[in-house]
Amino acid sequence: MAEPATYYADLNPSPRLLLGAGPSSVHPRVLRVMATPLVGHLDPQFITLMNDVQQLLKFVFEAPEDAFTIPVSGTGTAAMEAALCNFIEEDDPVLICVNGYFGERLVDMAQRYRADVRRVDVPWGEVFSASQINDTLSSFPAKIVAIVHAETSTGALQPLEEISEVVHAHGALLLVDCVTSLGGLSVGMERVGIDIAYSGAQKCLSAPPGASPLAIGPRALEMLDKRQTKVANWYLDMTMLTKYWGPERIYHHTAPISSVYALYEALRMAYEEGLGARFKRHRDNAHLLWDGLGALDMKPLIPLDRRLPSLTTVQLPQGLDEVAVRSRLLNDYNIEIAGGLGAFKGKVWRIGLMGHSSRAENVITLLGALERILS
Ligand SMILES: *Cc1c(COP(=O)(O)O)cnc(C)c1O
Repeated sequence: MAEPATYYADLNPSPRLLLGAGPSSVHPRVLRVMATPLVGHLDPQFITLMNDVQQLLKFVFEAPEDAFTIPVSGTGTAAMEAALCNFIEEDDPVLICVNGYFGERLVDMAQRYRADVRRVDVPWGEVFSASQINDTLSSFPAKIVAIVHAETSTGALQPLEEISEVVHAHGALLLVDCVTSLGGLSVGMERVGIDIAYSGAQKCLSAPPGASPLAIGPRALEMLDKRQTKVANWYLDMTMLTKYWGPERIYHHTAPISSVYALYEALRMAYEEGLGARFKRHRDNAHLLWDGLGALDMKPLIPLDRRLPSLTTVQLPQGLDEVAVRSRLLNDYNIEIAGGLGAFKGKVWRIGLMGHSSRAENVITLLGALERILS
């Protein structure tokens, strides 16, 4: 074996400022709880914490009291998988709205669970109207309609209220990807009428990736209960996991205990801050960024009325070597921003102001560094 490159290093990575598409920077309080002594996954102390995590998840999702919430073991994609596999049986009609990279991922996944998938598309960066969903459902009576609230690949914010009405008028359930919205802008699960919602830890909640929020509303719980066939994914099967995360405490798989502690502390910080204050902070710092970009002759790609506060896609000036600028940001200033994804690769930057990263001093630091590099 060749000697590991880090063998003599002190494993102390540079203190990066994370302003990309996720992960976001993690508060020291959250990092600290990951270093507490490990307890067992059935230890009474851990069980108390599990209950609190579930309560706090209801709080950030703004979920109804009778929703079931759980941190899924794994990253946001595992929660996405759990949100699909538990409610899909073979040949179930599922409508998926695609206006970016993560809509595509939903399609691929639902097909692997053998759903009868119909996709509806609008160009990247645009959002769906309720009438468009209504028209599609009239000819394709889906059981589930899946849509992305905050498309991290484009920076577009999808309004959900009217779509929720249409979906329910057709007797379908609404499944929403809230990975880049939860903790940064209102998801409003109960107010909007979302049936299934999932997110990740490392975006607007600013915990390390590893335990990912999932919320299941009463209509979806009923659907889970009425399944004719076993869930096609053993690890993410909520008919079994509800028995570990419910009063029975039956072992299913070992929870990623330290990741759950981290998520707990991040959720507790959101609770202390209050959702209204937290959403306002995200909006205010986004405006600070957008104003500052204007002074550098750079423009956000998405019009203001549907632009996400947590992630901004920036149009790149003609002839700019965007990769070189991003590596100078990283190497000279310790700042990470993201390039474009999929269809937007090489065309935009993605600047995230998520969770603990959404602070005025970070915006000013980024703008200052960009000004020096570009001049
Ligand atoms: C990041 C992200 C995901 C995937 O989450 P991972 O933690 O990378 O697995 C899914 N959907 C959206 C909208 C995302 O931004």
